[in-house]
Amino acid sequence: MTTSPESEALSSKAETVRVTRTPQSNRQRFDLVIFDCDGVLVDSEVISCRAHAEALTRHGYPITEHQVLERFLGISDREARLIVEARLIVEAELGLRLPDDFEAQMKQAALQRYPTELADIPHIGEAIAAIGLPKCVASSGTLEKIRHGLTCAGLYDALAPHIFSATQVEHGKPAPDLFLFAAEQMRASPERCVVIEDSAPGTTGALAAGMTVLGFHGGSHCLPGHADKLRAAGATATFDDMQQLPGLVATTAGAG
Ligand SMILES: [Mg+2]
Repeated sequence: MTTSPESEALSSKAETVRVTRTPQSNRQRFDLVIFDCDGVLVDSEVISCRAHAEALTRHGYPITEHQVLERFLGISDREARLIVEARLIVEAELGLRLPDDFEAQMKQAALQRYPTELADIPHIGEAIAAIGLPKCVASSGTLEKIRHGLTCAGLYDALAPHIFSATQVEHGKPAPDLFLFAAEQMRASPERCVVIEDSAPGTTGALAAGMTVLGFHGGSHCLPGHADKLRAAGATATFDDMQQLPGLVATTAGAG
């Protein structure tokens, strides 16, 4: 971005008044909203579970999508760890090795499903439009995967070009690096950022960056007790309906 912080702030205020008619207090609490992608913008975690169920069943380990969700996603929280941990558990139980490229196969299988199966999180588009603050995306996925997902879900134009990936920093979530990088690129102070996260590692990372976290547990992959995990990790508030988000951003006390 080429604008100075001062001109950025001025343009943000102008946009706020024009777009949303949100209360004055909104602009005083936060300068930037940082969205996680998987499970917050797009309902992708369940597709990963589906791809796993099919592949594991094919390799002689019959399992349903819901069983993958309950057994593996619950303990790992994130797709990357789901893949690794599922492999270890399945190999131990089967007494055989899955193919060396199993991880790559899983990621590819999930991505191939995106154009026909990936949905946006209900009401996320309205929530994005209603929040009159600068916004960006900070995700553990590659830039290619994030762009592909947002495009398939019809959200790319609402958030591009402010999309940041863990591949752009040294340490991904739960380290604070990605959140700090996103804030720096968007010229926002960390304490003036609110992060929307659906995972405990993401929440931990955002808190380590000095930011405020709102925990979302409305994705298809969220099991009972998910909100408790997010609160235990340090989320200031939790919610399961994106229609609540604009109000939460306007009323939640910031770290700054
Ligand atoms: Mg997520």
